[in-house]
Amino acid sequence: MAPSKRNMYRFPWSGNDNPIGWLEVTDRCNTYCRGCYRINGMQGHKSLEQIKEEINLLKTWRNCDNISIAGGEPLIHPDILDIVAYIRSQKMKPLILTNGIRLENNREFMVELKKAGAVGFTFHIDSEQHRPRWKGKTEHELFELRQHFADMAHSVGGLFVSFGMTVYPGNLDFVPDLVRWANQNIDRVHGLVLIGFRNAVMGGDFEYLVDGKPINMQTSYVADSDAESYLTSSDIYAKIQESFPHYETSAYMGGTQAHDKITWLVSAQLGTRTRMYGSVGPKVMELFQVIHHLQHGTYVIYSPSHRIPKIAFLLGLLDKGVRQATGEFFREVLRRPGELFRPLYVQSIGIIQGPDLLEDGRVDMCESCPDMTVWDGKLVHSCRMDEWRLYGSYVVAQRRAKEATNGQEVIAPDAIPVVGDAAPSSN
Ligand code: SF4
Repeated sequence: MAPSKRNMYRFPWSGNDNPIGWLEVTDRCNTYCRGCYRINGMQGHKSLEQIKEEINLLKTWRNCDNISIAGGEPLIHPDILDIVAYIRSQKMKPLILTNGIRLENNREFMVELKKAGAVGFTFHIDSEQHRPRWKGKTEHELFELRQHFADMAHSVGGLFVSFGMTVYPGNLDFVPDLVRWANQNIDRVHGLVLIGFRNAVMGGDFEYLVDGKPINMQTSYVADSDAESYLTSSDIYAKIQESFPHYETSAYMGGTQAHDKITWLVSAQLGTRTRMYGSVGPKVMELFQVIHHLQHGTYVIYSPSHRIPKIAFLLGLLDKGVRQATGEFFREVLRRPGELFRPLYVQSIGIIQGPDLLEDGRVDMCESCPDMTVWDGKLVHSCRMDEWRLYGSYVVAQRRAKEATNGQEVIAPDAIPVVGDAAPSSN
């Protein structure tokens, strides 16, 4: 069943007040992911000076709490430690979005990044990557690698750690196993990010235009068929719910066009290393955003600490989700009293559905897109930045003109008579 917007909190983020600033420090990458939106190596590493300017722009105009350092692969940028330190000096949280290749068996580098100010990592790992030493591995075989990074970050300590994957129809059934693994590692895995695969289908009913002229779109997300494009956030949510009654979402963002679209779905599950008890509801999500804004002047999405005191169960007084989790927890304590002394954690699951091309050619983006990035001194959606890099603007989709099918001739637009063309009146 699809989640209902009425039962969730709508994130209050906007273009001007958004917890996330998306920074791309390079477009080079040391692997290839099928779902990647970026053309590898078209422009190379940005200079430290340019990167600082972009950080300043994000801070000034977006009021960010964190800067997501992305790419390309950010850990191959030669100035990555200085970049992290600069973001920290600007009182924002540097979070590194990485494939982890440079961190494999390299704990010292992780320690250096933490010392420079990094608050954590989101590791993107899935079976559609051509990752050195792991090529051709199944999603299940990749658990060894996920565990390696989770254990390494746990041993360093004080880091936010989440794992991301692109979800295709082909690996949707694996998602519950990933959630199970994350739940079992709740003391070292703060969250999961699941991104529904999207591409733009060439040919078919649409043509693509820039400045009114047709183009042959060359971005990495063009495809011949839409067979894989229409996995929605609700599909991924339903897949998780099939296996985990404790899982429920509590916050969302909609789309910019269709009233029923859900682009971001966020949940916060509560549990210990042995059992999951439930998920917080919309009231706690709202409280978290409002209190952070009152205290720090920014909204929030990442917190390095995810261990919570049991007194947090008192939030059940105002939040139904926490109330249910509290009941489950104390019933379990009656069965196994040792559970009372186990640390309690919160673990997030973020589901993201990218842009959709609607029947009439409009593109439905994420409302208040948190992943706007800087291109040529302005903010653009990071998922569509290659349109700017290749064509200098967003590409417009337009339905191809249909030929008349009833044997009648189609009147060309400039041959349609208009009032001003009528013959002058004889009166
Ligand atoms: S619109 Fe923004 S948030 Fe949505 S997929 Fe694109 S970049 Fe990400």
